[in-house]
Amino acid sequence: MNSRNTSDYKFLQGGGEMAELIRSYEWSNSMLGDPSLWPNSLKVMVSVMLASPFPMHITWGPKFILLYNDAYQPVLGNVKHPKALGLPIYESYPEIWDTIGPLIYGVMDGKAVRFHDFQVFLERNGSKEECYFDFSYSPIRNEEGVIEGVLTNVIETTNRKLAELDNQNLTEELQSINEEMAAANEELATSNEELRSTNEELAQANDEILVARQKIEEGEIALRLAIDAADFGTWFIHSQTREFITDRRLKELFGYYPDEALSIEQAVAQITEEYRGYVADKLENAIYNNGDYDVTYPVIGLHDNRLRWLRAIGNLKADPSGAFSAFTGVVMDITEQVESRNFLESAYDQLRLAKEAAQLGFFDLDVTKDTLVWDARCREIFGISHNDTVTFEKDFITGLHADDKERILNIIDSVFMKSLTGGVYDVEYRTVGAEDQQLRWVRAKGQAYFDSQDKPVRFIGSVLDITEQKEDELRKNDFIGMVSHELKTPLTSLAAILQLADRKLKNSEDQFLVTAMQKANIQVKRMSNMISSFLNVSRLESAKLLIDKHEFDLQELIEDIVKETRLTISSHTVTFQNLTKIIINADSDKINSVLTNLISNAVKYSPNGKVIEVKCELIENTVRISVKDEGMGLQPQDIDKVFDRYYRVESNHTRLISGFGIGLYLSAEIIRQHNGEIWVDSESGKGSTFYFSLPLVGLS
Ligand code: ADP
Repeated sequence: MNSRNTSDYKFLQGGGEMAELIRSYEWSNSMLGDPSLWPNSLKVMVSVMLASPFPMHITWGPKFILLYNDAYQPVLGNVKHPKALGLPIYESYPEIWDTIGPLIYGVMDGKAVRFHDFQVFLERNGSKEECYFDFSYSPIRNEEGVIEGVLTNVIETTNRKLAELDNQNLTEELQSINEEMAAANEELATSNEELRSTNEELAQANDEILVARQKIEEGEIALRLAIDAADFGTWFIHSQTREFITDRRLKELFGYYPDEALSIEQAVAQITEEYRGYVADKLENAIYNNGDYDVTYPVIGLHDNRLRWLRAIGNLKADPSGAFSAFTGVVMDITEQVESRNFLESAYDQLRLAKEAAQLGFFDLDVTKDTLVWDARCREIFGISHNDTVTFEKDFITGLHADDKERILNIIDSVFMKSLTGGVYDVEYRTVGAEDQQLRWVRAKGQAYFDSQDKPVRFIGSVLDITEQKEDELRKNDFIGMVSHELKTPLTSLAAILQLADRKLKNSEDQFLVTAMQKANIQVKRMSNMISSFLNVSRLESAKLLIDKHEFDLQELIEDIVKETRLTISSHTVTFQNLTKIIINADSDKINSVLTNLISNAVKYSPNGKVIEVKCELIENTVRISVKDEGMGLQPQDIDKVFDRYYRVESNHTRLISGFGIGLYLSAEIIRQHNGEIWVDSESGKGSTFYFSLPLVGLS
């Protein structure tokens, strides 16, 4: 060492600890040899390196002998430093030689390199460490420009890199956490969504429940109101406990006080004996066999002793498992219905008996459906023995006698006109038996029923066989006719004799005889009028009343009648104003008897001294004759009936007035046969005016 020329070490000046180490290093054993002999290029580089505060090392020569500065020591670590000085670099860094070797060789061939955060695993400080470096390898050339070494500038970035990596890991972790969180968030969002929709469903279900509950409540209120309004009693039997729960009304129906306890047994005990067993059986059957429960039974009230007919309707209630849980129902008081049904039944029986006794037949025509129902008696009357369906056309119309058909069908037409007849039907006609061809007289009474538009919908009524009565009447008529006819001849002779005697006695002094003869004449006249009436009625009934029309002056006829009346009647004043001639074509005898009858009625039914006013007026195409009196008048209910045969108003007053009730009947028939009209205006107690009118046109 001493031999060493220190001046040759000047390039090591200011080189720090490493300069000292280089100086003191035993270079003789090294391939580099004594530093004083190093080529100038190396010396310059070492000098620069040692002076640099920046970590550097130099590898020199084919063995890559390592030289480094103070700043580089920490890179080597405390195990490799200072042994690394002067050793081939691959001996100091065997663990990374595979990595750096090729790079160094590359530099030796002239390729400088630079790396950033270069990762190597270094054996230093006693363990393998993960290290990072920013470094560059630059070639070092000698004076001849030949590359002999490599200069390495290096900064260890391990701490920063690791921190960075940590950071990166942390970031990655954070990112994955973030991602997980995002996924978790998404899941959360999904479950939130699910929750929201579940919530919505729940809300909807809740709403539905609310609506349902409201409906149930409304239903319950409505049910309660209905039960209250219908006056039902309600009951409930629990399946297990057999507890019997009732309301006040039910107790009331069994004659219990509303606050009193009532058991099933007590309730059953109130049922009348004959029904008790039946109801108990039904109850058992309903509870144990799920049978129907709808029973009607009579009950005698416990306290009020009242008989009530009750109808109980029950229903088994199942719990959610389907097992029977309760038996509940209502009880209603149907006493009135039962009583009215009983009443109806007995009324119906009475009606049936009456109908049978009276031999009445029934018909029922459904106008809208065009169906006709005839009972057995009605069929008999139309000579039908079968039970097949009958029809209006086939059976009714065909069954009518030819002479009555048109008249009856016209009447039925008018019966179906509500405004005209009010649907009232009351007729007599003949039928010819469909099977037995027998002629029967029938009296039919009925009523048509109408819809809101006044169209007929139903026509119901009864028919009575009046053949016998009719035959009796005909016989009676024949008899009356025969007697009247027989009486007429002697009476006509008597009237002629009396008239002759009256004329002869006119100038007689014997006043008694004169008056007696006059009175006899009046009485004979009356008698003959009466007999002609009877004769006419009898003729009318046997359809033999003949109308013998001819032209005559109506004024003159009235005048004659009035004059004759004045002669025979002094009790009343009869007035008539003669106007002009009115020639009509009619049966003057019959019109005479109509007017005579009206005047004689006016006399009969008004007090003495009153005026009777006879009038004849032309009204449009008719002539109207009226007879007005100031007598007793007619009650409204009698007005329509006075034209009926044998009808007489029943009163203390009329009882004293003789008559048969045929005068107006006959008059109406005569006027009808002249196509005229007859009617009366009357007020009870004030007087009546009887009118009849005859057509002027078409009287021929
Ligand atoms: P008769 O007078 O013979 O009883 P009519 O057929 O002429 O029979 O009259 C029928 C009924 O009409 C009478 O019984 C009477 O009650 C009533 N009647 C008739 N004309 C009058 C009148 N002008 N005033 C009051 N009632 C009358």
